Amino acid sequence: MPDTANPPRLSLANLPTPLHHFRALDAIVGCEVWVKRDDMTGGVETGNKVRKLEYLLADARARGADTVLTCGGFQSNHCRATAVLARGLGMHAVTLLRTDDGEPRPLSGNPLLSALAGARQYTITPAAYESRDNLMRELAARLRSDEGRRPYVIPEGGSNALGALGYVAAMGELRAQLDAGAAGAAPFDVIAAACGSGGTAAGLAVGAARHRVASEVWSFAVCDDRSHFDGVTASLIDGVRAMAPDGPAPAPLRLFDEWKGPRYGEATAEQLEFIRRVAAHTGLVLDPVYTGKALFGLSHHPQRPARACFVHTGGFPGLLGAPAPVLADLPPPQPLPAGT
Ligand SMILES: *Cc1c(COP(=O)(O)O)cnc(C)c1O
Repeated sequence: MPDTANPPRLSLANLPTPLHHFRALDAIVGCEVWVKRDDMTGGVETGNKVRKLEYLLADARARGADTVLTCGGFQSNHCRATAVLARGLGMHAVTLLRTDDGEPRPLSGNPLLSALAGARQYTITPAAYESRDNLMRELAARLRSDEGRRPYVIPEGGSNALGALGYVAAMGELRAQLDAGAAGAAPFDVIAAACGSGGTAAGLAVGAARHRVASEVWSFAVCDDRSHFDGVTASLIDGVRAMAPDGPAPAPLRLFDEWKGPRYGEATAEQLEFIRRVAAHTGLVLDPVYTGKALFGLSHHPQRPARACFVHTGGFPGLLGAPAPVLADLPPPQPLPAGT
């Protein structure tokens, strides 16, 4: 059994991720906003899931697993990161991907990259996805009995207490950057990020207090609703604190669901326009499923903080998944006019 007070961690992410400030972004968002570039934790595997997987895949390895099982939406960033990193460690990945009708879709974006990395991918219906934890347990049992594999199950989004430790550590990293003068030594008013399964939010809340980097954490839901995530994050925070019981109380975690758009994976025209405007003025590319909605939310919040740190959690391969509504209105390249 791994030691729960000092769990093993693999070095999988490129750390520290940069802390960037764009004046043009301050003007668009309406406050001073520093961007913690967790969209740069790696190459193909990049994004916030890499930090969680440093702990989760270390645990898988410590338990002698040869196959990791996980789940998500068809364009899941988490499944792609897991598939790529597991393969690099010599393990196989099996993923359950939710589609509207349970039928496969053509490969694009994330599942295309997972396929390249040799993942075995199954599609399931939204109804089946409701019992994803049972499904993964059953599939793990089958892989064990039928194929002699040693499977390890990672929950949706890598969001259990162990995965959330990645974001406690990220706040220690941010503290070191502040100490080194990266953004002035003063703590931020707010750490802001998107919320999809709650692990990032929980880790940020514990880590922000432990490392004194911000007085509050603002978490912008992209699915479900506030009361759902209040419950999910409270129990994740309990789990994280149980692993290191001596730390201070977590930073206040405020969850917002006003800017989640029509539904998971679908953004409003205004949100898509916001993504295009940010990219056109700063070169910072947000994704329409998570980061675009979260920063849009911060920019529309009636009590914006004076100084925020926005965690860019990644997601750009999803942007390139079909259909790609953000790209729809952009002008394609034109033939060079004669005489230039
Ligand atoms: C998974 C994901 C999130 C949400 O993180 P959770 O810990 O699942 O809440 C945010 N942004 C991107 C790009 C993600 O892939």
